[in-house]
Amino acid sequence: RVAYVNGTYQAHGNAVVHIEDRGFQFADGVYEVWSVFDGKLADYEGHMQRLGRSLTELRIDIPMTAQALGVVLRETIRRNRVRNGIVYIQITRGTAPRDHAFPKGVAPSVIVTSKPIDLSKGEALAAKGAAAVSHPDTRWGRCDIKTVGLLPNALAKQAAREKGAYEAILYDEMGMVTEGSSTNAWIVDENGKLRTRDTQANILRGITRAAIMKLVAEEGIELDERAFSLEEAKRAKELFVTAASSFVMPLVSLDGEKIGDGKPGPIATLLRQVYLAQARREAI
Ligand code: PLP
Repeated sequence: RVAYVNGTYQAHGNAVVHIEDRGFQFADGVYEVWSVFDGKLADYEGHMQRLGRSLTELRIDIPMTAQALGVVLRETIRRNRVRNGIVYIQITRGTAPRDHAFPKGVAPSVIVTSKPIDLSKGEALAAKGAAAVSHPDTRWGRCDIKTVGLLPNALAKQAAREKGAYEAILYDEMGMVTEGSSTNAWIVDENGKLRTRDTQANILRGITRAAIMKLVAEEGIELDERAFSLEEAKRAKELFVTAASSFVMPLVSLDGEKIGDGKPGPIATLLRQVYLAQARREAI
């Protein structure tokens, strides 16, 4: 395997950035993940635009165009011979003697990795439906920026894994669901209405979420972009999460309580199918 690190391709096992990289010391950096189908990137433009926005919000200037970044993403996929999998980019403010304030005249660090994923595993889990647990959302106030500061997300995911669950569903002080630890959360509520939290809230504007919203409209399914509580999620007919790496994943239990009839619901199943078909078709 190889990784792109600041202009060169290095053996993945030896690829390094400096100990005073600000990503390492301050989580001062952003990232993006695309899923890869047949060597091509899904939802290419959406993720590239969000990467640009994350960089702008943190005022990280990179001396590379989106087009040049695209060339690196594709070259990293090619060199790793990835057919189906993911490609990951991380851009930090760069390496400088440790000081909270921004350094001057420092080039950002850019790294890209890509790895294959066995899609049949996700398919098998989606067919069966996954388990979830609830977890308090302890993150900062700018979750709309896709930063590498993922410690609260990692702690939540670990809590889920220790309970044998696939995802942690995060909730705020009001008991309202924000999103998953690495996904956006959706329900089909008791009244049969599809709901997902609005993006005025402190959540990530998922690219998969946006793609699903378009598909939902095309399928003539009504969507209520409105927060739901943990209790509503437990009483829901369906609960599912979306993300670039898990597509649409039906959840069939929350904190050990069965969701609906305990099987993946029709809306989640349909959306997974149409999303995957479209993502494959439109990958570039
Ligand atoms: N929410 C969080 C906290 C995430 O980390 C992610 C993806 O990594 C998502 C939502 C889903 O976003 P996307 O669909 O763009 O992958």
